[in-house]
Amino acid sequence: MAKSQGQQFIGWMGLTFNAPENWDLVQAKGNRFDGYLRLEEDGVLRCEIQWTLVSAGRVVLDEQVEHYLKSLEQILRKQGKPVTIRKNIHIVSRKQVKRNVRDFMWESNTVGYGMMWFCEDCRKALVAQVVGYEHEPVKEWAKQIFLSLSDHSEGDWEVWSVYGLEFEAPKGWNISKSEIMPGKIKFLFRQGEYELSLGRYGPASVLLKGKRLEEFAVEALGKETVERFNIHYRIESLHNHEGMVLVGKDKRSNNPFHVFLRRLRTGNPFPQFRGWLWQCEQSNRIYTVVGAIAPEHEQLLEHMARSVRCHEES
Ligand SMILES: [Zn+2]
Ligand SMILES: [Zn+2]
Repeated sequence: MAKSQGQQFIGWMGLTFNAPENWDLVQAKGNRFDGYLRLEEDGVLRCEIQWTLVSAGRVVLDEQVEHYLKSLEQILRKQGKPVTIRKNIHIVSRKQVKRNVRDFMWESNTVGYGMMWFCEDCRKALVAQVVGYEHEPVKEWAKQIFLSLSDHSEGDWEVWSVYGLEFEAPKGWNISKSEIMPGKIKFLFRQGEYELSLGRYGPASVLLKGKRLEEFAVEALGKETVERFNIHYRIESLHNHEGMVLVGKDKRSNNPFHVFLRRLRTGNPFPQFRGWLWQCEQSNRIYTVVGAIAPEHEQLLEHMARSVRCHEES
């Protein structure tokens, strides 16, 4: 992704934008219908983005902005400082972002720049604001974020980029679980009964102390997967690293009784297990991209695995 000096690229659930690289994404929650992102710098709020899907009806942006600014003003006034609010400040235009958009700013004990937009393609209504102090380049930050912001991807793939983990996930697969903790990031995408998941673990030097990659793989896949599938692997080079290609069959597919019931119920064969796992020396991390999928999803899994940027190529 295009990224300039001193900036980070963030991708979350179809939303993408550039922000100063020393800001931390401290909250990312919600789903496609309602979501919220929060960035802070050393514990101080810098940017918030919130979105909601408007399923039907006309969105009158001016009314929404009015409503929003009224409640913002109430909150600011409670802090006991005079509040100035200005609308239509022309830091972002419809022509630039190709969406119906309004911008505004306020000054109180902090300075804030905000915008609200409605995307007619995906029907997302979104409000974003950037906050700082008078002596800080808040307007420049806001411009940078607002003008780089996109609320949906144009192609079949969505770019995810958080905490230095960047990859592409297929559109139409909904994220059903995300685990973000020190040493582990894992996303699970689901479509019906099928699943794709991507994990990053580290530091590899600690996780693999006295342990082979195969043993780590069993742990990372989890008990449920290991019990459900008969999994075979072969050592293969992935992303120029030592890795494993995993192939598995649902254990129930060996049982004619289960196969019979399954056919009656769904007409589809049991999902198969496919996966890639590799150790990246440069980033000192282990990556997994695995799926319980139908044969037609194999290319999706491979695309997702290949899209992971495990280290910066020099
Ligand atoms: Zn959109
Ligand atoms: Zn790597």
